[in-house]
Amino acid sequence: MPNREVIIGLEVHAQMNTRTKMFCGCDNDAWEKEPNTTVCPICMGHPGTLPAPNREAVAKAVRTALELGCTVAPTCHFDRKHYFYPDLPMGFQISQYDFPLARNGIVEYDKPPSPTAVGEGPGVGATQHCRIHRLHMENDAGKLTHVGPKTLCDFNRAGTPLMEIVTEPDLRSPGEAVAFAQELRRILIAVNASEADMFKGMMRFDASISLRERGTEKLNPRSEIKNLNSFKALERALAYEAERLERLWEKTGAPLPGNITVGWRDDEGCTRVLREKEDAQDYRYFPEPDLPPLQCTAEELEEIRKGLPPLPRTQRQEYVRQGLTPSQAQMLLDSPQIQRIFDAVLGHTKDVRKASGIVFTQLLGAAEKHKKGLHELPAPSAILDLLDLVASGAISGNAAKGVLEEMVQTGKPAEDIIAAHDLGQIADEGELQRIVEHALAANPNAIAAFRNGKTQALGAVVGWVMKETKGKADPAKVNALLQKALNPSP
Ligand code: ZN
Ligand code: MN
Repeated sequence: MPNREVIIGLEVHAQMNTRTKMFCGCDNDAWEKEPNTTVCPICMGHPGTLPAPNREAVAKAVRTALELGCTVAPTCHFDRKHYFYPDLPMGFQISQYDFPLARNGIVEYDKPPSPTAVGEGPGVGATQHCRIHRLHMENDAGKLTHVGPKTLCDFNRAGTPLMEIVTEPDLRSPGEAVAFAQELRRILIAVNASEADMFKGMMRFDASISLRERGTEKLNPRSEIKNLNSFKALERALAYEAERLERLWEKTGAPLPGNITVGWRDDEGCTRVLREKEDAQDYRYFPEPDLPPLQCTAEELEEIRKGLPPLPRTQRQEYVRQGLTPSQAQMLLDSPQIQRIFDAVLGHTKDVRKASGIVFTQLLGAAEKHKKGLHELPAPSAILDLLDLVASGAISGNAAKGVLEEMVQTGKPAEDIIAAHDLGQIADEGELQRIVEHALAANPNAIAAFRNGKTQALGAVVGWVMKETKGKADPAKVNALLQKALNPSP
């Protein structure tokens, strides 16, 4: 596209990881549950029932809004958004319309490599910005499954708390849209507002795209791609639609005459026009009469702000500053389980190289070898127990590698594995002393060489001891005992 640029804005729906649903006490975790088992008269919209806002969901949405740099409204309210669809029990969605929870945020993310650049060219990783237009809360609809001529309805998801996050049209390529969306996902996870598990549909995108001539400021009518469920789909759909709009402009000599809504066909790799005119929908918004306005005082916001974690991007830069590679730092931010383990190990060893060797090489190597998922890794405390045993001299650092692998493989604690394989180091000083005396008698040539000034000859004696004890002696201690025996202090 020589003289036209792509303008992209996103609307993101993120499922909040609360214990209960948005307006009732039903279990919010519907994953792999029998259909229509996590429902009640409130989320099924029975007449006469009253919704009650979920305090935890509001708190999570506020945390997210603040982490995104938004201004949280001192007061806001819910609205009814009416439309008819079989997966919407109440006949309306409880959402927020003209007074959303928060507005005007900004997300910094790393500039992605351009699709034509080879490797990580200049500018990759530089700071890019995408402004957040608004963030509001709403409840989710149920789920329809089409089976032949029939449609099955599962209302387990109906009433699940969602955050809708809308960006300004600040993104300039499909790659930027994905890089921003991935950063947003990390932020949602960091503030513990959403699991943001794409596979489970916990984060979904609607992407708006339009073209304009470079150097012009006016926004042209846009095409909105509905319901993209993965980063891959987001990128492919945007790339497809950008090219389609470009060809259309070439053909008609003008941008789109009006807004359109399209659907992405993942299997066919193309979009289909769903609606020509965007204002065809009239949701008849009006304030939800069953819910009072929400109030947030400045003091409450300040209290929440104090408890916020650092931004993932700041954390990533800090890991890199400490000596991790950018991809290792990224991996920690994308895998909270590994991050928790790494932080614990780093806190224990106070040595980034050592910690990265233990976590990235030994631990993740063992996980891959034994085909263990991240959720099956030993707990940070179990790994620290092992490091304590090494630090106290109970086992050697070398033996610890095998123990860690077996911990990953079997999930057993370090102590059990050490006992089962009799890996403990000889801790008894008297026993070590006897072995050292035995070594002195058994290696007369090396001892003679040492006495003649060949200090390195002592290594052979230490080696003999290690072999004799099957590696269960502490080489540093053996060395010290040998030195003491050969150079009696004055
Ligand atoms: Zn319910
Ligand atoms: Mn929405």
